[in-house]
Amino acid sequence: MNNHILETEKKRYMERTPKSQALQREAEKFLPGGSSRTTAYFDPYPHFIEKGMGKYIYDVDGNKYLDLMINATSLILGHSHPEIAIAVQEQSILGLAFSGPTESQISLAKILCDRIPSVDTIRFTNSGTEATMMAIRAAREFTGRRKIVKVEGGYHGAHEYVAVSVYSSEKDNSGEPKATPEYSKQPKTVTDDVIVIKYNDINATDKVLRQHCQDIACVIIEPVVSNFGYLPANLDFLTRLRRVTAETGIILIFDEVQSFRLSPGGAQELLGVIPDMTCLGKIIGGGLAIGAFGGREDIMNLFDPTQEVTPISHAGTFNANPVTMRAGEVVMNHLTQDVYDRMNSMGGVLRNKLGATFDELEIPIQVTGIGSLFGLHFTESNISNYDDVLSADLDKKAMFFLGMLNEGILMQTGIAGSLNVLSTDADVDRIVNTVRKVAQRSQ
Ligand code: PLP
Repeated sequence: MNNHILETEKKRYMERTPKSQALQREAEKFLPGGSSRTTAYFDPYPHFIEKGMGKYIYDVDGNKYLDLMINATSLILGHSHPEIAIAVQEQSILGLAFSGPTESQISLAKILCDRIPSVDTIRFTNSGTEATMMAIRAAREFTGRRKIVKVEGGYHGAHEYVAVSVYSSEKDNSGEPKATPEYSKQPKTVTDDVIVIKYNDINATDKVLRQHCQDIACVIIEPVVSNFGYLPANLDFLTRLRRVTAETGIILIFDEVQSFRLSPGGAQELLGVIPDMTCLGKIIGGGLAIGAFGGREDIMNLFDPTQEVTPISHAGTFNANPVTMRAGEVVMNHLTQDVYDRMNSMGGVLRNKLGATFDELEIPIQVTGIGSLFGLHFTESNISNYDDVLSADLDKKAMFFLGMLNEGILMQTGIAGSLNVLSTDADVDRIVNTVRKVAQRSQ
């Protein structure tokens, strides 16, 4: 791509966001790079948000955006939903957080256990990061094994166990993914305990799992990989993964922090493959910080404090706080089957229209996604794994993200996005028309 196009989009963005630029400079005095969230930073600087209403957000410069980011898919009812605002307000008057349980945690736990096929019982955390960390800890305790298996390019939160081969794609001598540290001084003991597999490569996965099963506690995987533009796993990969893990006593953990929004029971229900444990986050907190992990009762009993000895202690000052529980319950009560059907079919229309647009324009952009989720990739390769994702043109991606922003649509920086319950057919058409315009500019 001509670098001039990227520079033009940047210039236009900077002209539209002078207040954000000033706030960024101020923020840099107190926060490294002005940021507490690397994934929310983008070049030349992020726009600072003033408010969100429904499906739109407004930045401090008065620009309005159709929000397809909706805080990394979490605000499925849109911003500042009145019922959530009331629930939060009511609970804040009664008290924000206590060191004892409240009834509200039973209500949300019941909804989730009833809906998710793999979840007999559940525990709440404050983030998806804590959820995957605790699920892995449970798998280790339950199996007495140490190693974990994860997908190359897969993200499961910020903790050490899974901070391996998230953004790198190094291979060993036989061409298989190699466990690669996320930062240069990461202890070798961390990478030694991680086996990295290539998404959708069932033969190599089957082999490595059988070969090392005596040492492997769990496989942690998203059934729909968020970082790959919401790419659902091939069904034969997922079903064989289920079979081999069951045969070898390896705990299969689905990270559904994002994919839970696909159906009442998440991607596992939609795809018909049921793991041993499930990690959740994002939508189940109604927009507040949350995570949860649940699964087979015999595994979850490791956390049961009514026993004489509790095998795993799991604490957290804000775990299951009533404000988050009540906001989460509002969301879940809104998500009826009709609502999922509508969002998912609208997502299907969006992906089809985008695909048809790129075919017509003869621009090599791949469209991925499932249900209400979609992703775009500037590459000729079909997307099946992380190597395919990395084959995309990064400059074009950056240009496209800024181009969409300049046209009033906020996507994820990885040029992916999600619809929400407020999305309409007119929004779909607007997205397609804007993508067409920006894609043409990128050529
Ligand atoms: N797992 C997946 C698939 C995620 O997308 C994320 C966050 O983006 C996490 C885990 C971590 O969740 P949190 O950011 O709440 O710690």
